[in-house]
Amino acid sequence: MSVSGAGSGSVPGARSGSGDLSAFIAGLPKAELHVHHVGSASPRIVAELAARHPDSSVPADADALAEYFTFRDFAHFIEVYLSVVDLIRDAGDVRLLTYEIARDMARQNIRYAELTVTPYSSTRRGIPAEAFMEAIEDARRAASAELGVTLRWCFDIPGEAGLESAEETCRMACELRPEGLVSFGLGGPEIGVPRPQFKPYFDRAIAEGLHSVPHAGETTGPETIWDALTSLRAERIGHGTSATRDPRLLEHLVEHRIPLEVCPTSNLATRAVASLAEHPVVEMAKAGVLVTVNSDDPPMFGTDLCAEYGIAARLLGLDAAGVAALARDAVTASFAPDQVRAELLAGIDAHLAAWSS
Ligand SMILES: [Zn+2]
Repeated sequence: MSVSGAGSGSVPGARSGSGDLSAFIAGLPKAELHVHHVGSASPRIVAELAARHPDSSVPADADALAEYFTFRDFAHFIEVYLSVVDLIRDAGDVRLLTYEIARDMARQNIRYAELTVTPYSSTRRGIPAEAFMEAIEDARRAASAELGVTLRWCFDIPGEAGLESAEETCRMACELRPEGLVSFGLGGPEIGVPRPQFKPYFDRAIAEGLHSVPHAGETTGPETIWDALTSLRAERIGHGTSATRDPRLLEHLVEHRIPLEVCPTSNLATRAVASLAEHPVVEMAKAGVLVTVNSDDPPMFGTDLCAEYGIAARLLGLDAAGVAALARDAVTASFAPDQVRAELLAGIDAHLAAWSS
């Protein structure tokens, strides 16, 4: 699978104020709403994990890892992803992964992130659920104190693992509820995994005060997004790429202020869209849908959030003020605490003011 062209963060030809737009994006305080825990393991982090587990087939030195992360096709991507999952064997690995993800975020000026965590992948491999919760919470507190990155969790059901995984994810979310948990999600394949079967688990999570943020309409049509809205009471939609095929759905998303978590490079890598030029984000924005820009599984797709902002700016024809508005929309669509929200918005405004002066 080739995702060449992504990851540079540069936006050819886009200039604003005293510098180029990629520099503006790099310095912009950002919130990210759709990014996966294991999917954020950069080669640097994987090298650290591999060093803890020398029996693993994953190489531990940076050059070999760069080669390892060059995906031949989607099947190879899944293979690499699962080999990284296999490196998360104890609570120490979970803590390391989580904290180091926050370090990578701090470098991009991501100040707030809702990280999609799939605890079931770890607990079914033998990590006790309580130890898993303690590890992510310890990393969350350290990331806030030491890196200035506020993390919140979305616990998601790995749809391919069936209702047993839904039951267990729901139990962990509701009974062991870690302080940073804000939402409940559903990932994995959509084809052959109908959304409505997960209604009882979403009902319970929502009753416990969690927000509903399932993936929908990434690899299937708009009917899956309707299912997510009606059966799972989605407050935001992960991807929602096919929403533009249904004008009535677009109207509904606008009317009810349901944001879409758009991940352009991911959509290209998984072939949910044929080319970036054909990405429906332009039509979504034109219809007035609240669009947020995200990176999904950034190192695995050869991208990062800055690069995704650059791509969105190019597709939507945004200058610095437009990019700042996009960053504000992510804050608006987030479940961030009021103080974090206010600080982020003030930071975005100050960055734009300094850039424009
Ligand atoms: Zn995702």
